[in-house]
Amino acid sequence: MSNTSEELNNIEKRSLNFIESIIEEDIQNNKNEARVHTRFPPEPNGYLHIGHAKSICLNFGLAEKYKGKCNLRFDDTNPEKEETEYVDSIMEDVKWLGFQWDKEPYYASDYFGKLYDWAVKLIRDGKAYVDDQSQEIISQQRGTPTRPGVESPFRSRSVEENLDLFERMKAGEFENGTRVLRAKMGMTSPNMHMRDPVLYRILNAEHHRTGDKWKIYPMYDYAHGQSDYLEGITHSLCTLEFEVHRPLYDWCLDQLTETSYRPRQIEFARLNLSYTVMSKRKLLELVKGNYVNGWDDPRMPTIAGLRRRGFTPASIRSFADRIGVAKRDNVIDVGLLEFILREDLNRITPRMMAVIDPIKLVITNYPENQTEAIELVNNPEDDQSGTRNVLFSKELYIERDDFMVDPPKKYFRLGPDREVRLKGAYVVKCDRYELDATGNVSTIYCTYDPETRSGTGTYQPKIKGTLHWVEAKSAKDAEVRLYDRLFMDEDPAGHKDKDPLEFLNPDSLKVVKNCKIEPALLNTSIGDKFQFQRIGYFCTDNDSTPEQPVFNRIVSLKDNWAKANQS
Ligand code: ATP
Ligand code: MG
Repeated sequence: MSNTSEELNNIEKRSLNFIESIIEEDIQNNKNEARVHTRFPPEPNGYLHIGHAKSICLNFGLAEKYKGKCNLRFDDTNPEKEETEYVDSIMEDVKWLGFQWDKEPYYASDYFGKLYDWAVKLIRDGKAYVDDQSQEIISQQRGTPTRPGVESPFRSRSVEENLDLFERMKAGEFENGTRVLRAKMGMTSPNMHMRDPVLYRILNAEHHRTGDKWKIYPMYDYAHGQSDYLEGITHSLCTLEFEVHRPLYDWCLDQLTETSYRPRQIEFARLNLSYTVMSKRKLLELVKGNYVNGWDDPRMPTIAGLRRRGFTPASIRSFADRIGVAKRDNVIDVGLLEFILREDLNRITPRMMAVIDPIKLVITNYPENQTEAIELVNNPEDDQSGTRNVLFSKELYIERDDFMVDPPKKYFRLGPDREVRLKGAYVVKCDRYELDATGNVSTIYCTYDPETRSGTGTYQPKIKGTLHWVEAKSAKDAEVRLYDRLFMDEDPAGHKDKDPLEFLNPDSLKVVKNCKIEPALLNTSIGDKFQFQRIGYFCTDNDSTPEQPVFNRIVSLKDNWAKANQS
């Protein structure tokens, strides 16, 4: 489907980012019949991370906005590092983010035949040659930006000899690294990428899709533009480091194609996020070295990790949208991502009661064997969410750090002779407490005033502190996993002579067993999300079973709740 100017005018008028401006201009000029066709081109050599999510949202988002299409293309030109597991995870992640690619996924490896034919054409046209030198020598001859390179002694081979050698490279006659195919462009360009760049190399490796059919593999710079061309891509978006590769992208298309249709490469700044690393190579190191528990470890910045941690697709899309696209590299504060996540979770999660570090609270004047149903609102942000009943009785659990033996004046929680409200229930006053053998508080004894019941009681004193609680007899045990930042440094990969691993946070995972949860939390499904009141947002982990529930802390809650909500 193509766009008309009327349609363009109907598109929401916020200020355009620079890519949108380019696209709109291209549409106005009827470039490529005013089509918009983008692609997301991951190399299947690892799991996707939040940086890729930015690129996914950008590419698929532009296609949606301009009624175009977006392809998913696996850039699988390096068989040594690529695996089917990664292909599958990438498709799952893109879908989870809420996007659907046009038709079936594409693979650069589908074009190996065509790319080979095109390479033969370059040779025939005298624009490519086989070089018998090692990669090391070729690098040495490349020169520097201010000093021209040295021409290869094999540069003036005849077309026939080049065709013969290239054919034999393809047939597997030569060892890895013994020959390459290079473009014949010259050795004096100020752009080093334009000095007779390598187009093909010999690699005797098993490819995840083509098996052992190919003994030579195209370089990224040669494969990418032609893949774009074969798929009818109009706007090929990539990160800034490819800016210097753009002349080569255009050069290849100029030599090989004849139609007026042309894909255009546009570069934008990659997403960098504070307190994390964001390269698949470094993430792979964390996985292989067992510094984390796999690619989907909830501390990982991978999409699989964020999903398991409890991030919502909506929060990630909104994050990508709000950071926008820029032409200059910068670092985004991970706090912004967490802020947007909290906004979303606040809207959608039911409030539940769970006590992470329980301590027994006994209401001495509450009748033995009596229970009451306390009605609680599930989600005050959502009228449709309804209410539920939780059990109240003489014995409850509260959070250990909601009690102090000798509290300061401004401490609005519980202490000897202090009063607090138990969320949704009564005001209680602490009369005494008991210590265990090690000197820790083991039980708190309180009295309650039956007239102070929330909502219905006749006496509603102004009490500053409200505590969450769980009824002791009906409470269930759960494991809770509390996550902190994986790295202690704001920019762990940004130190010249230090490995990011040096900045790993030893306390990034704290496992707490025997937390007390209200029984409603027992039969949840993996990925279900909640607000544990006053503690944070949590989700049911993959390891969870009905017998042994496990919850991940997604993100903490700013504890202004106790003051803001007095009922
Ligand atoms: P990494 O350096 O993490 O391994 P990559 O660029 O090698 O990433 P690809 O699989 O080649 O990974 O990337 C697929 C697409 O995602 C490319 O278009 C790339 O530009 C984009 N991309 C990768 N990292 C980021 C990032 N941090 N921010 C935005 N886009 C990114
Ligand atoms: Mg890459």
